[in-house]
Amino acid sequence: MSDLEALALKLEARGYRVTPSRRAVIASVLQQQGHFTVDDLLHRCRGAGRATVFRTVRLLTELGVVCRVLLDDGSLHYRLSPRAHHHHHLVCSGCGSVRDLDDCAVTDLVRELSNASGYEIEGHWLEFYGRCAECRQAVAVTG
Ligand SMILES: [Zn+2]
Ligand SMILES: [Zn+2]
Ligand SMILES: [Zn+2]
Repeated sequence: MSDLEALALKLEARGYRVTPSRRAVIASVLQQQGHFTVDDLLHRCRGAGRATVFRTVRLLTELGVVCRVLLDDGSLHYRLSPRAHHHHHLVCSGCGSVRDLDDCAVTDLVRELSNASGYEIEGHWLEFYGRCAECRQAVAVTG
C-alpha cells in the first residue's frame, strides 16, 4: 500500500471523506522536499481550492504527518515530519534548512508559568533561528 493510500484510509477511519481534490493535495504534500506553504500546494494542485488545501493540510497536521514551522520572516510553512508529537525546530537562516527537535524542552517553564499566572496553558510556539553547521563552515572557508 502506498503512503497516499495509507493516509486516505486513516482519514476515512476518522470519518473524513477523501475527495479527489483532497487526494491530490495529500499526494502533493507527500512529494514535497523540505518545507512548503499552502500557496506552493495551490500551485501544484490546480483543481483544489484554497479552502480544501487549508483543511487538508490541517487534517494532516492533526494526524501528525505534517508539522508547522514558523520562519523568521513570519511566514508559516509546513513540512513532512517523522515526529507526530509536539516539538520545536532549528531553522537555518543561511540555507533555509529545518531540523525537527526531539522533544519539548520547556515543559518545566510551562508548568511554572501556569502555577504563577493561574492560566491553564494549552499551547506554545517556539522556534530557534540561526546558522547550521554547514553554513557556518562555508562562511569560515570563504571568509
Ligand atoms: Zn544552513
Ligand atoms: Zn517539525
Ligand atoms: Zn514545546
